[in-house]
Amino acid sequence: MVWAAMVVMVMSTSSFQKVAIFGSTGSVGLNTIKVLQAQKEQYDVRVLTANSNVGLLAAQAKELDAAYAVIADETKYEELKQALAGTDVTPMAGQEALLEAASMEADWTMAAIVGMAGLAPLMKSIEQGKIVAIANKEPLVAAGPLVMEAARQSGAMLLPVDSEHNAVFQVFEPENKKAVERIILTASGGPFRDATFEEMEKATPEQALAHPNWEMGAKISVDSATMMNKALEVIEAQRLFDLRPSQIEVLVHPQSLVHAMVEYSDGSILAQMGAADMCTPITNALGWPERLKTPGERLDLAKMSHLEFRPVDLERFPSVTLAYECLEEGLHACIALNAANEVAVEAFLSHKIAFLDIYHTVSEILRSAVPERLESLDDIISYDKLIRARAKSAMVENNFQQTGT
Ligand code: NAD
Ligand code: MG
Repeated sequence: MVWAAMVVMVMSTSSFQKVAIFGSTGSVGLNTIKVLQAQKEQYDVRVLTANSNVGLLAAQAKELDAAYAVIADETKYEELKQALAGTDVTPMAGQEALLEAASMEADWTMAAIVGMAGLAPLMKSIEQGKIVAIANKEPLVAAGPLVMEAARQSGAMLLPVDSEHNAVFQVFEPENKKAVERIILTASGGPFRDATFEEMEKATPEQALAHPNWEMGAKISVDSATMMNKALEVIEAQRLFDLRPSQIEVLVHPQSLVHAMVEYSDGSILAQMGAADMCTPITNALGWPERLKTPGERLDLAKMSHLEFRPVDLERFPSVTLAYECLEEGLHACIALNAANEVAVEAFLSHKIAFLDIYHTVSEILRSAVPERLESLDDIISYDKLIRARAKSAMVENNFQQTGT
């Protein structure tokens, strides 16, 4: 990231910024709209996108007076067109439309689609060379080298929105990178932080979705329950901050107030703290390099009795170990980890497999993944598809089933 050059560029732009939100109907998307609406600055929301929620997308587009509303599910085009009849919002639909929207001019883009579905539009947004706020971690995990290289080539500024990575970004001194000894990502531990193995074996989607500290979309909530979210975040951090895997550590911090820390050679540990509310990292990314006012929650330290940090129990949460193994193995393993996980989480949420079978599926797929030539976006997308097919067959062959539902 070319901090200094980007600061000059951003400072010199007017306060009337063109904004695009990919995944505007999701949890991060909704918070992004909340943050935008709280600012006094003028934002010209050009593009909003969603997968299939026409009603919400149309309502958002009308409310924000967007220029384009894009629904990824092509079959919903007529419905969207009708919902936007009589407005100035142009309806668009399908994968190509998503890419077209990502190619439109935007000063600030929020990448908040969930999963690998966000990769192709993200790459298009980056090509424009402006500011891209990234919540969508899966493309960084599975195509990190390509994403980072595309940003280097276009000069785009990638601003991490994932709370831990935004926290690192805030306390990471690029000019002192050599003095960075390690970064510590905190983890709430999710709903099963203190659960027994037997309880996790029987865990239902409803229990897995009940996150103690954060309100998030379904996929990331399940990832938090398995702690696969932290595995993805270790890889995400490696991509964003270009560190050795051994410099990235994870600590369980049940209060979710300290989001990440950077330890320097002089022994100083700089931490970022804030309420467990995505409005803070989103506001940080929207305002950068300045600081705006968050419409979200504030942290009242006087009400905190203690802060607790402990190592991850890798016996109960073996997913975290997979991140380090995959970084060691290479890109094919990172793609496989992410793809198998996406498929397994979907199966778990549809009551097809048990909670612990998510890990069983991912680790089985990883055992059979061998290095591949993965240089282009197409290479990565095809390999991702292959792994998804393998993961689906593995779940059927193993006759995984969710019981008691
Ligand atoms: P979500 O499920 O609430 O929303 C996802 C958005 O993506 C929706 O707008 C949906 O319509 C859209 N979408 C889903 N599938 C799509 C597809 N195939 N094509 C096009 N659009 C599609 O998810 P979320 O919780 O907002 O998370 C979004 C991303 O941000 C994820 O990668 C997640 O890991 C990351 N993230 C989320 C949070 C959080 O607090 N929710 C925190 C950190 C990082
Ligand atoms: Mg996070």
